[in-house]
Amino acid sequence: MAKTVLVTGGAGFIGSHVADRFSAEGWQVTVLDNLSSGREENLTPGARFVRDDITTPEAATLVREGGFDVICHLAAQIDVRRSVLDPVYDATRNILGTLNIMQAVQASGHDTRVVFSSTGGALYGDFDPPPSAETFSKDPESPYGIAKLSVEYYLAYYGRVHKLDTVALRYGNVYGPRQDPHGEAGVVAIFCNRVLDGRALTVFGDGTQTRDYVYAGDVADANFAAATSSALPAPGRLDARAFNIGTGIETSVNTLATTLSDVSGATTPIDYAPARAGELARSALETSKAKQVLGWTPTVSLADGLRNTFRYFADFRSGAAT
Ligand code: NAD
Repeated sequence: MAKTVLVTGGAGFIGSHVADRFSAEGWQVTVLDNLSSGREENLTPGARFVRDDITTPEAATLVREGGFDVICHLAAQIDVRRSVLDPVYDATRNILGTLNIMQAVQASGHDTRVVFSSTGGALYGDFDPPPSAETFSKDPESPYGIAKLSVEYYLAYYGRVHKLDTVALRYGNVYGPRQDPHGEAGVVAIFCNRVLDGRALTVFGDGTQTRDYVYAGDVADANFAAATSSALPAPGRLDARAFNIGTGIETSVNTLATTLSDVSGATTPIDYAPARAGELARSALETSKAKQVLGWTPTVSLADGLRNTFRYFADFRSGAAT
């Protein structure tokens, strides 16, 4: 019998790639999404779609009675700036919504593995030089990062105390087709649209600030690897079942802008604007644990990934993208 996966947030950017990946492996896919930022056009063909909010009793019932082998939990409020403006809104979705799902997993009594989409980019802070290993100290600079870290503590608790099967994947800045300008790698979407508009790219500060850009297809592979691994460490401390998912490469905003100009074939000027308060100076993730335990490594280079992403935005605007 086909294995079953519930992808919360499966109509969104990363979730739709995750749903596609499981479907391609022959799994039965159910998507739970309230379409707050996701789109029905992103849904994996053949997937069952349940339009609901993760905070509702109906969502809990779906999880409790669904008998899912795996839940990839991606549904979240993803806008870091919104979390700063309204931490209660963020925590209601990102902490309480996740607890609603986890309590339902516990109540189901079913042997479900929960793969949680956490963040590396917004978790480690600026105190230690990158690349950050999983064991680095966590000093989130935003309510969004605090909520992700809180959920990770809950997952470790569910693992230790209730013997639930949980994994946290800490992503770098994820980019790729279908991405949203509000996410952690929103700059890629913004730059693609600017190039297509023939407008200058705005870089805040001197453009030397770095991030770890990881391609959405690689992140989908990481979800599948985490969902199917038989080599996960025993639940234990916070980091025991946490994996960084990135490239380990620090890419500056200047390099991002010039690489995008190269692959798009357009000569787009860069405008420099004052640095934004609270932005990390440097960020990259150390990913040897994911390689050793999950057998996962990223396969898509920045140039190839940006080329695919730029093509997607160009097609989208001409009405050709799916
Ligand atoms: P996205 O906004 O495209 O996807 C989120 C999806 O969840 C959307 O389809 C949205 O409609 C749905 N959703 C939001 N709130 C919901 C709710 N309360 N109930 C049901 N559905 C809801 O964002 P994304 O970039 O694909 O992010 C997916 C996950 O990955 C999130 O958990 C995010 O925090 C995490 N993440 C993303 C990045 C990144 O660079 N994009 C980095 C680290 C972690």
